[in-house]
Amino acid sequence: MKTLAGIPASPGITIGKVFLYLDESLKVPKYEIGSDEAQSEFQRFKTAVEKSTSEIHDLKSRASDQMDSRDSQFLDAHLLMLSDPEFISSIESELQNASLNVEWVLYQKIKELTEKLSASQDQYLRERTVDFLDIARRVLNHLLYRVRISLVDLSEEVILVTHNLLPSDALQLNKRYVKGIAMDAGGKTSHTAILARSFEIPAVLGLSDIVQNVNTGDEIILDGNTGVVIIEPDEATKNRYISTLQKWQKREVQLLSLNELPAETQDGKFIFLKANIEAPEEMDSVIAHGADGVGLFRSEFLFLQPDGYKSEDRQYEYYRRVLEGMKEKPVTIRTLDVGGDKIIPDLQGFDEKNPILGWRAVRFCLSRKDIFKTQLRAMVRASVHGNLRIMFPLISGMEELDEILDLLEEVKQDLKNEGIDFPTDIPCGIMIEVPSAALISDILAKRVDFFSIGTNDLIQYTIAVDRGNEKIAYLYEPFHPAVLRLINMTVENAHAHGISVGMCGEMAGDPYASVILLGLGLDEFSMSPFGIPEIKKIIRSVALSEAEELVGTIMDMRSHEEIEQYVKRWMNERFDLVSA
Ligand code: PEP
Ligand code: MG
Repeated sequence: MKTLAGIPASPGITIGKVFLYLDESLKVPKYEIGSDEAQSEFQRFKTAVEKSTSEIHDLKSRASDQMDSRDSQFLDAHLLMLSDPEFISSIESELQNASLNVEWVLYQKIKELTEKLSASQDQYLRERTVDFLDIARRVLNHLLYRVRISLVDLSEEVILVTHNLLPSDALQLNKRYVKGIAMDAGGKTSHTAILARSFEIPAVLGLSDIVQNVNTGDEIILDGNTGVVIIEPDEATKNRYISTLQKWQKREVQLLSLNELPAETQDGKFIFLKANIEAPEEMDSVIAHGADGVGLFRSEFLFLQPDGYKSEDRQYEYYRRVLEGMKEKPVTIRTLDVGGDKIIPDLQGFDEKNPILGWRAVRFCLSRKDIFKTQLRAMVRASVHGNLRIMFPLISGMEELDEILDLLEEVKQDLKNEGIDFPTDIPCGIMIEVPSAALISDILAKRVDFFSIGTNDLIQYTIAVDRGNEKIAYLYEPFHPAVLRLINMTVENAHAHGISVGMCGEMAGDPYASVILLGLGLDEFSMSPFGIPEIKKIIRSVALSEAEELVGTIMDMRSHEEIEQYVKRWMNERFDLVSA
């Protein structure tokens, strides 16, 4: 038995047999051909291109029910590349000049093209490298008479293990047979993670070297809730997970029956339970889990798409999809939170010594007002399509907030001058995720309509513990008295100034923290959609007065450990919480 830890990218637990999907590096033969053979070699190339083209058409039609228009556009781009006359004629002339076999000529051509593309200054062109490799591999496979195993053709249930999935592979995921995905590469916002979540396939990504550790047919447990993969589990572990899985499935069904009911405590306090999302593709899951809205739409994902942020219209369409999808329910879109652990090299480079304390979020946006204003314009324009709230991340002081709000006014004025209509009262809020902001939350509250506490960063900055560093992960303590005091102070200051306060950090989706957060007075919890029903069940089973009493007790305690032990005992006595 071996346990690997990765990034929990799509929730759920699955136990099954590995299907190792290897992108074997192609062994491309090289041999000389006679001048009279160039034409027949070219004919072979054309046949391989035709086969590849019909494969893509086939893929498009077979997977169309799982695809959105963007995915389908990307297959169209592959079709365009395959029919590009310049590309085709360059192969023909090279065959004549080089007197070498077509596989080698094509291989060299692709190498040359991808080197050029990946060195390009233009992000869009760089992103096309992967498409060229994808296409080249497809054509080469046909030339080499190799049948590529297609994920669409799987006929038994498997857990897909792979180093990385090309975009076209990810689109072929057969939901019926792919019961889990374990991947060396990728993070929470990679294309694969987004698709896995929207197909509701449990996934653990960022595992670094799982392909070195398994073979097809091995048994593994994949826990997409915690990011753990267990290879060849022993009987005891397997049984433990089987019972967790059964509980999880049973509970999922029971919990979904709460969808239409409000998250209201026994003594009548109503809490908004909202969803955190990274892309419009997650809307189905948001609705299926009965969310009261979107509490955090991380707009970074769009900025990772080729050219995603450059066009105001493209951003507008992106935001509009989410706003329309939620009908009149509120959608909080957060402005670009680039930097820190989410560096987008094309925007920022890599040269910061201390990125977590550096040029990130609104600090970046205020120094790139061109990008910031484009995003604000797109958001304000999209606001007519639903119930938009705009949120700014990583606020640390008053001048920064003043400057941002002035800029937003400027953008609104420009739009007005252009005759573009939008509501005049779009609520504006900030994330409280830096201790300085929590400490001056009484001052900040006068300038905004709501707060949302980002505990992922607030804990990191309060305890000085890098949230991504596994060596000091033991210090990442949500129940640290300092963290609880900052949350308490923020809630009190917000309410004293008549504004609402929510939480969108991971702590808001932690069932063990839920009663404390309720007792601290939060108005809104925002989390991954799948976590909503369980938190709703807890909220509906307790009274606010009980939660306040619990908070009264723990606020006098001296350490994280003491509080955590007490709270866990308190919760376990009342609830049957699932944890493996
Ligand atoms: C947070 O910091 O708690 C948060 C929600 O933002 P992110 O995780 O995107 O930094
Ligand atoms: Mg944050």
